[in-house]
Order: sequence, then structure tokens, then C-alpha cells
Amino acid sequence: MHQPAVPHLHAADPDLAGLVEAEARRQFEKVRLIASENYVSPAVLEATGSVLTNKYSEGYTGRRYYEGQQNVDPIETLAVERAKALFGVDHANVQPYSGSPANLAVYLAFARPGDTVMGMALPMGGHLTHGWSVSATGRWFNPVRYGVRADTGRVDLDEVRDLALRERPKIIWCGGTAVPRTIDFAAFAEIAREAGAILAADVAHIAGLIAGGAHPSPVGHADVITTTTHKTLRGPRGAMIMSTAEHATAVDKAVFPGLQGGPHNHTTAAIAVSLREAAAPEFGDYARRVVANAAALAAALGERGFDLVSGGTDNHLILIDLTGKGVAGKPAARALDRAGIELNHNTVPFDPRKPFDPSGLRLGTAAITTRGLTEAHMPQLAAWIDEAVQATAEQDEATLGRIAAEIRGLLADFPMPGWAAA
Ligand SMILES: *Cc1c(COP(=O)(O)O)cnc(C)c1O
Repeated sequence: MHQPAVPHLHAADPDLAGLVEAEARRQFEKVRLIASENYVSPAVLEATGSVLTNKYSEGYTGRRYYEGQQNVDPIETLAVERAKALFGVDHANVQPYSGSPANLAVYLAFARPGDTVMGMALPMGGHLTHGWSVSATGRWFNPVRYGVRADTGRVDLDEVRDLALRERPKIIWCGGTAVPRTIDFAAFAEIAREAGAILAADVAHIAGLIAGGAHPSPVGHADVITTTTHKTLRGPRGAMIMSTAEHATAVDKAVFPGLQGGPHNHTTAAIAVSLREAAAPEFGDYARRVVANAAALAAALGERGFDLVSGGTDNHLILIDLTGKGVAGKPAARALDRAGIELNHNTVPFDPRKPFDPSGLRLGTAAITTRGLTEAHMPQLAAWIDEAVQATAEQDEATLGRIAAEIRGLLADFPMPGWAAA
């Protein structure tokens, strides 16, 4: 059952409680490979479920609009100070409601409507908020986009430089949602300097790897750094904006009062808890194991003939192009889910298929590493993925059901924070 137990929820709203229990069991029984997901600790869960949700705290520590901030002020200060210490930044704002609003705040701080902004194209691995056309950021600004090279699957920094010098964007984004390779923050910083742009590093996916020393840091290179707190960083759903001292006031004003009202204090507290966890030496081990598991899984998939974008991975994330397997991404993702393997269909660079039915699969190792799976499990996991993809093509439901049962058997031995056998 869900841990901590939810007896009041069962009494007050049994239907809802049943769904929460079912979700806890689902998370226990599946190999969770969605690259943006994780399992938070019981301590983070408790902070998220605390009475802090009752309190309004518009403003910043020592400068609030409502009374009664005796406890919220030190909580937010703890979160801010821990973020500054962990990442080695001058300034941190922990109030953004999530990653997308954090990125919007960067536009509000550094650009005006109609200004040219530059980011990685969504189908190449960028995020919606880096200027994609359906996003407010693509509609209210003039977006220009870079991608990856067709032959390498990697960002071509010469192309980025040429585009930046030609278009002179106000903001250049680096980072993305489907980038399996190390981001060269120093090179992006040099380009931004030449172009007179603000460099915004969106490290939502890799923040935990950076904190744990398993990916280079953008600190000292980027003017402003945004991150979600709930992906590899393993905190609650939320976000932070970090910056040099020079940009602190602009960032803070953009978040409040520019974009948001009261911060979610229960989230702020849970962010503080997760930052403390991420500062512990074990978190460095965790980050290294995430990367080692991804490398092992990529190697095992490669041996089975899977075509990996860029040929492999440097971080937690793997992007598979299924074209050679004769199966599209969406039916494969659905069949894998029935086989107990949860991931998402994804566009691959230069995808000939439509975005809602693309050619690829995206997966990541952050959650399974928290769960305790190691490199030794990765060949078996690759074998299950291979079998399930084959079964998709052959509409072989029996095989999918057999794999799901085998996975439940394996995972029964790996405890999950947030669930315990009744
Ligand atoms: C996840 C993600 C976001 C958005 O975060 P939400 O919390 O879903 O709004 C922004 N940028 C990148 C690179 C992301 O991976």
C-alpha cells in the first residue's frame, strides 16, 4: 500500500484513494524508463504532503505581503542556501511552479515580445519552451532554431555560431528533453558572448547528474540556469532558476510579481529536503550509477541491433530510432507498457513520421537506478525490450503478458519509496 498510509483519504474519498493505491502499485510493478521521472524519498513525500500547503507567502524572505511567515521564511531560505551551495551559484530562486513557468520567467527577465530567441528545435531534442511554434514562447517571440547533424546525431556548434551571429538573438537556450550527449556549456557561452546574447542553460533533465558530479556544470558559463527539481534531481515537482549575482534581481522580479503569485511552500520545503539529499556523498554514487546503467543499457540494445541516436549516451537518456525494426514508436511504446516497461514514443532527428506517431522511443535510467537495478540487470532489460518490440510487430499479446509477469517477479525484490506490502 501507499507509504505513508492514506487512511483519511480512504475514509473521505474511497474512489480517489483507490486510484492512488493503484498508482503506487503500478509504479512498484513496472520498469519505469520515462527519462523525466524518478521515485522521491519518503522524506520528500512527507514534506509535499504537509500543512505548508495551507500558507500564502507572496514575495521573498523578509519581504512578504502576508503575515505569519515565521516558519516559511526559514524554509525558503534553507532551500535557497542549499541550492546555492550544491550548484555553486550566486543566486537561486526556488519559487517557479514548474519547469515551463521557470523558462517563461527567463523570457520575461531578458527579452521583450517580438525579440529573436534561439533554442534547439523540439523534434531535434529541444523543449517546447525553447521557442517551439505552438508554445507561447514561439508565438510571442521570434524563434530561430538549431538542431543536430544528420550524420552524428550531435549538435553542430559551428551551425549554432553561424545562426547566432546572423540572427543576434536576445537569449540562447542550451539543453533539452531528448539530448543523450554531454552539453558543451563553455562552447555555448563563447557563442553567446560573441552574439551578445544571454545564455540560458536548461538543465531540467541532467540537474541531478550535475549535482552528483556525473555531468559538467553550466556554472561559470551560463548567465542563467533553469531546472526542474523532479527529474534526475529526485525532488518534488517544481523548478529553480539560478543565476549570477548580476541577474538576481531581474530573475526574482520576473518570477514574482512578473509571472506568479504565492509560492507553493510545501514544494519549497520538499525541494529543500531533496537538495540536502543531493548534497550527500551517496547522491554522487547514485548519479554515477544512473550514467553507468544508461551506458550498459545502450550497449546491450546496440548489440541487439537497435539504432541509437548519436550511437549511444553520455548521460541518463537513450533515444532509439525504431525505423530499422519495422515498428513505429507509438505502437511499440503501448505494447512495451503492456509488457511492464514504461517509456514514451518520441520524435528522432529528421523524423519522416508525424510528431504524434513518430519513429522513436525515449528512455532513461534515473528511476530504475533509484529502485536499485544495476548494470548487471541491463542485458536482461534490453532482451525484454527487444522481445516486446518484436511482439508488437507480430501482435503477440501472450509474450507481452509473460514479460510483464517476469518483470513483476524481478521488481518484487526491489523496495520502492512510497509503497510497502500491506
Ligand atoms: C521537463 C522539462 C521542462 C518543463 O518542465 P515542466 O515541469 O514539465 O513544465 C523544461 N525544459 C526541459 C529541458 C525539460 O526537460
